[in-house]
Amino acid sequence: MWSPKSILPQTKFCCLGRIVTKLNLIAGEWLAGEIEIENRNPSDLSDLVGMFAQASSDQLDATLDQARIAQAEWAAYGLERKQAVLNAIGNEMMARAEELGTLLSREEGKPLAEGKGEVYRAGQFFTYYAAECLRQIGENADSVRPDIEVDVRREAVGVVAIISPWNFPTATASWKIAPALCYGNAVVWKPANITPASAVALTEIIERQDIPKGLFSLVMGSGRSIGQRLVESPKVNAISFTGSVPVGKGIAAAAIQNLTKVQMEMGSKNALAVMDDADLDLAVSLALGGAFGGTGQKCTASSRLVVHAGIHDAFVEKLVAGAQAMKVGHALEAGVQMGPVVSAQQLQENLDYVALGQSEGAELACGGARLEMPTEGFYMSPGVFLNTTNDMRVNREEMFAPLTSVIKVGSYDEALSVVNDTNFGLTSGIVTKSLARATHFRRNARTGVVTVNLPTAGTDYHVPFGGRGDSSYGPREQGKAAAEFYTTVKTAYISAGPV
Ligand code: NDP
Repeated sequence: MWSPKSILPQTKFCCLGRIVTKLNLIAGEWLAGEIEIENRNPSDLSDLVGMFAQASSDQLDATLDQARIAQAEWAAYGLERKQAVLNAIGNEMMARAEELGTLLSREEGKPLAEGKGEVYRAGQFFTYYAAECLRQIGENADSVRPDIEVDVRREAVGVVAIISPWNFPTATASWKIAPALCYGNAVVWKPANITPASAVALTEIIERQDIPKGLFSLVMGSGRSIGQRLVESPKVNAISFTGSVPVGKGIAAAAIQNLTKVQMEMGSKNALAVMDDADLDLAVSLALGGAFGGTGQKCTASSRLVVHAGIHDAFVEKLVAGAQAMKVGHALEAGVQMGPVVSAQQLQENLDYVALGQSEGAELACGGARLEMPTEGFYMSPGVFLNTTNDMRVNREEMFAPLTSVIKVGSYDEALSVVNDTNFGLTSGIVTKSLARATHFRRNARTGVVTVNLPTAGTDYHVPFGGRGDSSYGPREQGKAAAEFYTTVKTAYISAGPV
């Protein structure tokens, strides 16, 4: 039974006393905004996930000021004290993966197993960077001048703005927040407005820790208003962004006005090359998982399947059968392999791409259609285009849809050339039993991540992640590589004087 005592500090009761509005964390206080928005379950539009406050410009400015003060205090915390904070966040997330993963799947639409897996992985980012707190080791050298020593070490960059997308609402934010805190920074987080519930849940965990007031801020609101103001602010020292290319370019342009450091991970058009010597069943399962996992809404999705003529027909037959057999449905329903897409807008864009592909001459072998389900949501069937060429727009633009295209090639050399013929360059993969081809591909694919007999999606947390071309800009994320972005180098010269 509800009682006033059960009101959490981060919630506010609306007039009817039933729906609570989740608040922003501003300068260490949970505050309502000027307006609020509702968030609905894309698997069932009758399910209201919640109401969410939208931060005002004044709140953003206030929290940036407090973040500056808190950052100095946090940077001066002992290493083990910082480590304990990060460990506590990570351990709680892993322990609550079922509950928080359910919330994530409910608001984003990915099947529950993926939602739970994402939250657990997000927790691992925090425990990984907890350990990194104690592994911040600099360099030292003798000066070229006599009796002078040089000490090179990294310091926090300051106040970091984190702008994250909806497709991995918890993991992407966590792989930015965890290193930012590890290396002594304050964080102002603007999550995607379409997945605010996961953002509030993570913020609640972080806010309860032993951190200075205002070290961590949550500023929910639209990208065009509060996001734009955040990236234009001279009070921000660094911006880490994941999202679309046009928005990324706009953020970079805004950041350069203040010479703010930027790191951006954007779209891609990842190719999986399937060679004639591939294990057929493995190739099909990698293609299905890579193309339709997360409903195809992944920057690492296998959206181009570059298939050797020698295996093409057998591969296509099994691929299409596999896509047709996939169970599409409510993200929280047992056995569902693919949930709805995230929004009405995304669904419409996807259907537009299906029409575009057909108008370009691609053959739609299956799927690509809106689906009616017992609950009203943004469902569509996984679609496979055949007989496509790499110059078609469906093979050049990121669709972020449960759609994939098969491009038939006559040789390994042609496959590599098609894989590399893109403006993007995040991930690529090859399926082959040939060590020679695998090695050549690994060394010549122009992507930041390359996989052999593995999906193009699915990466570890302790090694660098990022791409080339339009896919990424700035230092790599994750692993030790994250230090490059979240720190700045200081070179100290020390003359101890005569003994
Ligand atoms: P966006 O790039 O618009 O959004 C990503 C994040 O940036 C969100 O938090 C968004 O806020 C914010 N944002 C938007 N405009 C601004 C701005 N002017 N200044 C600061 N922040 C801003 O992606 P969408 O969600 O609209 O998705 C569109 C397409 O982008 C997808 O179809 C896909 O192709 C690509 N995408 C790629 C991702 C990836 O992992 N590489 C992730 C997400 C999208 P808000 O939510 O309020 O708009």
